[in-house]
Amino acid sequence: MTGPMLEAESVSVAYGKVEAVRGVSLTVAPGRLVTVLGANGAGKTTLLNALMGVLPARGVIRFEGSDLTRLPVEARVAQGLSLIPERRELFSTMTVEDNLRLGAFRFRGKPGGGDIDEMFRLFPRLAERRRQHAGTLSGGERQMLAMARALMGRPRLLMLDEPSLGLAPLIVADVMRTVSRLRDEGVAILLVEQNARAALQIADYGYVLDGGTVVLEGDSRTLQGDARVVETYLGVL
Ligand code: ATP
Repeated sequence: MTGPMLEAESVSVAYGKVEAVRGVSLTVAPGRLVTVLGANGAGKTTLLNALMGVLPARGVIRFEGSDLTRLPVEARVAQGLSLIPERRELFSTMTVEDNLRLGAFRFRGKPGGGDIDEMFRLFPRLAERRRQHAGTLSGGERQMLAMARALMGRPRLLMLDEPSLGLAPLIVADVMRTVSRLRDEGVAILLVEQNARAALQIADYGYVLDGGTVVLEGDSRTLQGDARVVETYLGVL
């Protein structure tokens, strides 16, 4: 048995006196796709930022057994963590291809970074748009580019903050299919979503966050069949 890849133990994050994340524990095993669900303001983004080291946290965060809790963002990136923030943060006046090149920046020309042709194989739409400015892409294409750029850094754990945000249902399905394919290629994934239905369709395991704490967890099939999840987070069917 291999141990968990990412392990958060009683992680809490406060903005001043307000605790936005309170005692959250979760694990992501290698090659698994784990989702964190919750309504607006549940603390999902805050949790991701703490795991990535953007925000200081109490508790313990381990990656492959080593304690990351006090390490800065760059050190976590070097260990193989990557976060795609909600706003995707592409360089809109640069081409698709140049955005991808920047994704391998941490290797600075040394071998080890992702391969642009491999990204174009994974994301054929981006190949068609390789010389276009990122700012001219559709919402779905921008999300694909954000994923491909992150993969250029060869992460071992990819964290995504609401990749479905602002996308039409058909495009959401497309993005989710891609996320699930990345898992199949061996990248462990922590997927934060408000769109519980879409996330549970591809995830192996899920946590439901409410008021900064985990109120429910289980494998996706169990959560999909749980009346509380269905009512509260999947809406009326
Ligand atoms: P969303 O779907 O809106 O991103 P979320 O689940 O990601 O929601 P967070 O953004 O993590 O939730 O916010 C959790 C709580 O912390 C909310 O009550 C929010 O108002 C508060 N909060 C978030 N960012 C800050 C900040 N910079 N300063 C103070 N409070 C904040």
